[in-house]
Amino acid sequence: MHILLSNDDGYRAPGLLALIEALRPLARLTVVAPERNRSGASNSLTLDRPLHLRQVDVDSFMVDGTPADCVYLALSTVCEGRPDLVVSGINAGENLGEDVLYSGTVAAAMEGALAGLPAIAVSLASHAAEPDFAAAAAGAAQFVRRLREAGLPRGSLLNVNFPADSSASQTIVTRLGRRHRDAGCIRQADPHGRPVYWIGPSGSPGFDAGPGTDFHAVSSGHVSVTPLQTDLTAYAGLEEVASWLREGVGRA
Ligand code: MN
Repeated sequence: MHILLSNDDGYRAPGLLALIEALRPLARLTVVAPERNRSGASNSLTLDRPLHLRQVDVDSFMVDGTPADCVYLALSTVCEGRPDLVVSGINAGENLGEDVLYSGTVAAAMEGALAGLPAIAVSLASHAAEPDFAAAAAGAAQFVRRLREAGLPRGSLLNVNFPADSSASQTIVTRLGRRHRDAGCIRQADPHGRPVYWIGPSGSPGFDAGPGTDFHAVSSGHVSVTPLQTDLTAYAGLEEVASWLREGVGRA
């Protein structure tokens, strides 16, 4: 078995190192990760400059690009043969609800799914200065073993979030919830008095965080597993849009 590993926290991130340690006994690993923290990079590809690929260990590489760049490069140049699985993480911090639209961790896995490979994004819902990734890494290895046996439907991936303390956890299949709106931009002044803006922290869970959601599972101390798909078509909207068109959208 050959696993491609990536992340969005950078090639030296403790969560990635824990994952490498946990998966090495199971498979041949190729690691291709960003040279620095690219959290929030989503599925972006770097198109305005060339990318540099540097080897940092026998089977480990860093790229001065995004998580999606890393997986794209890995699948087209670095990996000898096609990997059997793409695993991304372990992210320091959860990726729940609409986080998945911004997350570089999920994007690295999604790039694998777009290439037709089974893929898992793994995150740890801890905001400790030095999170303990050991239990999540051991849990991720269990998922890899199960995927090796059972596979995943093409174009789908698993978004897995471990609670900060998983000592009493069950594993629950969930749907994505929703956060409250975030606080928006934080305005500050630069040393010259000109305004600068920080994107603020994400909103608190709660808009849609009841039983069945990923938020509820993790806040209850359980491991959340949400199947995601790369096909964003809103199938429920197909007929409604077709009826708009029949009634003449765009007529003056
Ligand atoms: Mn991250």
